Amino acid sequence: MTRARMPRPHEVDAARRDPRLLRALNERSQDDAWRTRGTCQNVDPETFFPAPNEPVDIAVALCRSCDVQGSCLAWALEVGDCHGVWGGTTPRERRAMLLAWRDEVQPDPSVTAEAGPPVRDRLLTLVPSGR
Ligand code: SF4
Repeated sequence: MTRARMPRPHEVDAARRDPRLLRALNERSQDDAWRTRGTCQNVDPETFFPAPNEPVDIAVALCRSCDVQGSCLAWALEVGDCHGVWGGTTPRERRAMLLAWRDEVQPDPSVTAEAGPPVRDRLLTLVPSGR
């Protein structure tokens, strides 16, 4: 298993200007019911967790049409989730965004990894059975 490399300074700078991050900052904590309104509600969770050599295009395209993209990305950044596609971002993009995010916001203690569908289903794919 390879370790993810740290984002380079120019990647973090680009993340700070990324419209997806700006939207997440604006929509952070604005919509507690975002989980129930995601475009991915009825999509196979595996779509959002492609293998490293598989394209992410389908998941990212679904996110682009999603009304709660900003809230979803804000949640992923709050919990520091760097697996799968959230809010139209890849794990690599989010690692750079995470550094920019942590400079901008104070942690929200009400945000936890506990989530409703479809997020819950997606998280379950990350948790080894027996835990
Ligand atoms: S992962 Fe997030 S942004 Fe993408 S479709 Fe699901 S709820 Fe929407």
